[in-house]
Amino acid sequence: MEEILIDVDEPFIEESVLVEVLCKLSSQFERFYQEERKRYDFPILWIWKPDLEGREAFARVIRTSKGKIYKIYFRNHPKPDNILTFAHEIGHLIRAKEGKSLKIKATDNSLSDLTTDLMSMLEDSIVDSQLNKKYNFDLLPYYKRSLKRTKEQLKSEPVHKSLKFVRAVRLCNLKLRWNLIPSGDSRKEWCDFLEDCKINSPTSWRWSEVLLSIIVKHGRETIEQHKAIFSELVETFPLKGRMEIIK
Ligand SMILES: [Zn+2]
Repeated sequence: MEEILIDVDEPFIEESVLVEVLCKLSSQFERFYQEERKRYDFPILWIWKPDLEGREAFARVIRTSKGKIYKIYFRNHPKPDNILTFAHEIGHLIRAKEGKSLKIKATDNSLSDLTTDLMSMLEDSIVDSQLNKKYNFDLLPYYKRSLKRTKEQLKSEPVHKSLKFVRAVRLCNLKLRWNLIPSGDSRKEWCDFLEDCKINSPTSWRWSEVLLSIIVKHGRETIEQHKAIFSELVETFPLKGRMEIIK
C-alpha cells in the first residue's frame, strides 16, 4: 500500500458554528459581533484546546509567507458564563487587523513568555472597556473569577528577578482592568488582594506601580502611544537589546 503524506494542521472549528451558539446565549455578543467583527472579512481559525492551562483562551496572529493567519485557542465551549472570553479574543484580533496592536519579540529566549504578558497589559483593558461601555458586557463576574485564580498563583513573591517582573506586568494589567469597575463594594475583594500583595510581593508591587505610571503618562489608545510606553519600559527596567518591536 502506498503511503500518502498529507500536511495536517490543528483541526479548527467553523466560526459560524460557534457564533450561532454565542449569539443565542447573549444579545450583547450578537450586537458586538454584528457591529465589530462583521466590519472585517478575514478568517479566524478557532481551535478547541481542552488542556489549555492558566487561562481560558488566547489569540495569535501568525505571519506566513502567504499572509497572516488569525487564530483563537479556547478551553471551554460557549456557555453563559464565558461569553466575554470569546468577545475579548475577537477584540484583540480586530485590533491586530486594524494595525493597532504592538507586536513584541524577545531576542533573549528566556523572555519569550514576557512578551505575551506585555502585549496583554497594553491591550486587555482597552478591549474590555469597549465591551463594557459600548456593548454592555458585565466585567465583574469574570474579574472576580480570575482573581480567585490569581490569588492561588500569587501567594508569595518569586526569588528570580525576571519572574518578579512578569508578576509586576500581570499585576499592572489587573490594576488597569479593575480600574474599569466603579468604586464601591464590588471592588472590595480586589482592594483586599492589593493590600496583601503589597506585603507578600513588595518588589513586584512597586514595579507594577512604575509600569502603571509609564502607561498613564503616555496613554494607551494608539499604536504610537504603545511604542512610547515600550521604549520607556525597556530603558527603565532595563531590557534594552533583549526584546524589540516587530515591524
Ligand atoms: Zn487579552
